[in-house]
Amino acid sequence: MFSKKEIIERLSMRDENDVKELFTEAYRTKLQFVGNKVFFRGIVELSNLCTKDCYYCGIRKSNLNVQRYEMTKEEVVESALWAYKNSYGSVVLQSGERSDPKFAAMITDVIREIKTRSQGKLGITLSLGEQTHDTYKRWYDEGAHRYLLRIETSNEQLYKACHPQDHTLEQRLSCLKDLKDIGYQAGTGVLIGLPGQTLEHLADDIIFFKEFDIDMIGMGPYIIHADTPFSIHRNDVNHRYNFETALKMIAICRIMLKDINIASTTALQAIDPLGREMGLQAGANIIMPIISDTKYREMYQLYQDKPCMDENADQCRDCLGRRVASIGETIGFNEWGDSPHYKKRRDPKNAKVDNVTDGSC
Ligand code: SAH
Ligand code: SF4
Repeated sequence: MFSKKEIIERLSMRDENDVKELFTEAYRTKLQFVGNKVFFRGIVELSNLCTKDCYYCGIRKSNLNVQRYEMTKEEVVESALWAYKNSYGSVVLQSGERSDPKFAAMITDVIREIKTRSQGKLGITLSLGEQTHDTYKRWYDEGAHRYLLRIETSNEQLYKACHPQDHTLEQRLSCLKDLKDIGYQAGTGVLIGLPGQTLEHLADDIIFFKEFDIDMIGMGPYIIHADTPFSIHRNDVNHRYNFETALKMIAICRIMLKDINIASTTALQAIDPLGREMGLQAGANIIMPIISDTKYREMYQLYQDKPCMDENADQCRDCLGRRVASIGETIGFNEWGDSPHYKKRRDPKNAKVDNVTDGSC
C-alpha cells in the first residue's frame, strides 16, 4: 500500500523507465486480480438536457450553443438491444442530469423494457447524476445494478472552484453512499488536470477511493471545451500532461485497489488515438464504446475533439475489437464482467477472485 507521499512520487515520475515499471507492476496486478479480459459497456448517451452548470462541461445548461435532444424510450431500448444482439454483456445509460418525475419514470420504463426484452441478460449501468434515494432504489429494483457517479474531486475547495454554489461535494458523497447502501456496484472517479488541481489533490482522491471502498472507477483527463467558463484556462491546460497523469492514476489505482473494475475512458482517446489501449496497458479492464446513433453524438460533447463522432456502432465494435486484439487481450462477450471487489465486499466467503466466469449471461 502506498502512502500519500509515495503516491505523489509516482504521479510526479518523469523518467520513462520509471513510468514503464509502474505500468508493468499495474499490469501484473491486473492479470492477477481481474485477468486480461476486457469488458464492453455499450454507452447510450440518451439526452443532453441538463439542469446543472458544471464550469468544465460542454453540455452545461447555460451553454446556449448546444442543440438539445432527448432520445425516445423506443430509441434507447433499441440501442440497448443492438448491444445485446452484438454480444455486449452490458450497457451504460448516461445523460445530462435531470430529476423531474417524467425523467425518472422514463428511465424506470426503459430499464424494465431492456430487462424484459433481453430475458434479464443484459447488464445495466446507470450514469444519470444525482437523484433521490427513492429514485435510485426504484431503478435498482427494476434491474439496474451498477451506477457511475464521479465525485470529480475529493477536495472541497477545488469542487467549489469548478461548480456553482448550489452544486456541492457533500451532496455528491451522500448520493454515492445511498447507491452503495441500496446495493449497486458503486463507481466513481475524478477529472484529471482541472485548473487549480495539484498532485496532492489527486493523491487524496486515490485515498478516498480506497477508504470509500469503491467497486469501479471511471476517470479521465480534463479536456477543454470552448463554450464553458473554464475556456479562460485554455492557454494553461496541458492536455498531454493530463493524459500522462491519467494513465499514472489508473496504474496506481490498479496497484492499490487491485480487484476493482477500471474504465479506459473515451477522453483518453480524444487526446491520443491509442489512448484507450494505453489505458488497458496501464491497468484498466473496461471499455465503453458509444452505441447511440451518430446523429446525436455531435450534440453530446462534454469536451472538444470527442472521438468516434462519425462511426456507427458496427464500425465502433469492429475497430475496438481490433484494438483490443492488438495488445493481446480478449473481449468478454456475453458476460457482465462484474467487479470482483463488489462480490467480495457483499459475500466475502463465496467470492471468486477469477472474474472470467463471474456474471456470465
Ligand atoms: N450528468 C452526469 C453524467 C454525464 S457527465 C454526471 O455528471 O454524472 C459524465 C462525466 O463527464 C462527468 O462526471 C465529468 O467527469 C465528465 N466531463 C464533463 N466535462 C468534461 C470535460 N470537459 N473533460 C473531460 N470530462 C468531462
Ligand atoms: Fe450536466 Fe454532468 Fe455536464 Fe455537470 S458534468 S453539466 S451534471 S452533464
